[in-house]
Amino acid sequence: MKARVSEQGVLCKISQYSESSLILHVFGRQRGMVSVLAKGIRKKQEQDLLAVLSEYEFNLYEPVAGGVYLLGDFSLSAEHDFSQSVQKWAAAQCAVELYSKLIIPTEEAPVYYKLLQTWLEYLPGVEGSVMLVWWRFLLRVFTLLGIPFSATPCALCQQSPEHYAAYEKGSARLVCSACCESLPDQDRLTALSPLSARILQLLPGIGNYLGRLKPDSIATQQLNQLFEDYYQAHFNRDLKLRSLQVLAQLSAC
Ligand SMILES: [Zn+2]
Repeated sequence: MKARVSEQGVLCKISQYSESSLILHVFGRQRGMVSVLAKGIRKKQEQDLLAVLSEYEFNLYEPVAGGVYLLGDFSLSAEHDFSQSVQKWAAAQCAVELYSKLIIPTEEAPVYYKLLQTWLEYLPGVEGSVMLVWWRFLLRVFTLLGIPFSATPCALCQQSPEHYAAYEKGSARLVCSACCESLPDQDRLTALSPLSARILQLLPGIGNYLGRLKPDSIATQQLNQLFEDYYQAHFNRDLKLRSLQVLAQLSAC
């Protein structure tokens, strides 16, 4: 038998492995994203003890091969209940789906864990636009990834503008409205609506605007695309999140 270890973790996803076994996808404080085989969970009552998005203290056996841990036992350490708001549930799902896509070095797992834990604790009490706080969370993840996004000077004239009007395709760098108007080669740019530009500039302190500012469907689409392009420009990998499509649809209602 392999060594027994303990790990605190957020349960991100459950997949059926066989009739009586499940695979738990867990983001652990020490180990980052791991797969855990839960054998012999037959009864519905036992399965009901496991809730996606909640935190548990797991006892695990280290993997023999294939990198899959074996579940010893577990106990609930924090329940995060999103049954009151499908939007907040989607935003919580966005975070765990995002984490499942990132390559996080094991030694950095604790800081990512803390950010996720804070997010799950904070979300249920949010009043106002969930999409706005999602973007702020995403920017915090970008900072941890070493690619901090900020409303920097215009990519073309290097001035700090009052208004952005577009971003450069490929690099996702922001472009001011003056450059936008004078640029002959408009194909290089993706336009941003005035509301998108305003949100971008306010994002670092967006907590003060949650009740007053609501992204419309255009701003939602544009900013989600901008952040996706920004990630792609740095990591050369896409950042398509299915949960984010759900959140965007819900936010448009
Ligand atoms: Zn400019």
